[in-house]
Amino acid sequence: MTGEPYLLTPGPLTTSLRTRQSMLRDWGSWDVDFNKITARVRERLLDIVHGTGTHECVPMQGSGTFSVEAAIGTLVPRTGHVLVPQNGAYCQRIARICRVLGRKLTTIDYPENTQVSADDVGRALSSDPSITHVALVHCETSTGILNPLHAIAQVVARHGKGLIVDAMSSLGALEIDARHTPFDAVVAASGKCLEGPPGMGFVIARRGALERCEGNCHSLSMDLYDQWVYMHKTTQWRYTPPTHVVAAFDSAIAQYLEEGGLPARGARYAQNCRTLIDGLAALGLRSFLPAAIQAPIIVTFHAPDTPRYTFKSFYDAVKAQGYILYPGKLTMLETFRVGCMGQLGERGIAGAVEAVARVLAEMRAAA
Ligand SMILES: *Cc1c(COP(=O)(O)O)cnc(C)c1O
Repeated sequence: MTGEPYLLTPGPLTTSLRTRQSMLRDWGSWDVDFNKITARVRERLLDIVHGTGTHECVPMQGSGTFSVEAAIGTLVPRTGHVLVPQNGAYCQRIARICRVLGRKLTTIDYPENTQVSADDVGRALSSDPSITHVALVHCETSTGILNPLHAIAQVVARHGKGLIVDAMSSLGALEIDARHTPFDAVVAASGKCLEGPPGMGFVIARRGALERCEGNCHSLSMDLYDQWVYMHKTTQWRYTPPTHVVAAFDSAIAQYLEEGGLPARGARYAQNCRTLIDGLAALGLRSFLPAAIQAPIIVTFHAPDTPRYTFKSFYDAVKAQGYILYPGKLTMLETFRVGCMGQLGERGIAGAVEAVARVLAEMRAAA
């Protein structure tokens, strides 16, 4: 192996050379040229979800979770009540955010291989009218399961409640259309399907919902309303922006548009996902989820049944072949995960399948 390994992880992921090179310059946060970049990033993100004119894109410093927490803290009033349907670790993280922020919480609990059902959400909203918001994870990255966002959004809208969507690992690759799918906020980050570096998140909020949020937030620095008002007034970020990340994210979005935008990005990931599942199936490795509910973002595989398999030794051996795998996140089953995102070089995901094949052959020969 030469050079750095490819990251088959759900962010940070392998970015293009052009994206990395766009970080070789320092920007002043007051500088008009930098603030033009911020404005362009916000406009293009809005456009990806067809929210221009109706929604606002508010960027936030930090990892993706900072933006999820900012969205819950800003959009849900302190007297609000959040329904969290949960089928994985990122849903549980939202529930934990609600507890920490002191927002009333109700959950619907599913096994990790089961999609959230719009009917269940409707029933929960009917039986408890005190619920003000539903918080949904679109693609649950802990397994790779896809939740039916559009159907759930319809039900939530019919009940007149707010919907906050963690679309961290789907925005840019899977369709989210604000013209047809009603939501109060969709949250994502720079270092996922749009293939920028990690370091900033963003919340795309319905303007009418955001306008009502003054004074809701528990936190000064995480107040999206304040960030939005300040940015609107000054064109600047409220506190020091991650300038290099913003510049690189801008470049990554330009490359996304050159590639063909969402249809092209979604098709590339879907092809990666198929090649990966078929390739590993041929090696005797089964994926955890049925194809019908698998998002083309990250795939959970059952661990090989080779004696003495440990994730650590498998990881190290595959890394030596040039690819970084990701541990599983299921409590009851031994699994590992492989991401479908990022710039995977000339051989693409097929190179990763070959690397896993070589490592498995060695492990099986040694057993
Ligand atoms: C990556 C991710 C997040 C954010 O994780 P951070 O480590 O804070 O960046 C949140 N939700 C989902 C579904 C994710 O995939």
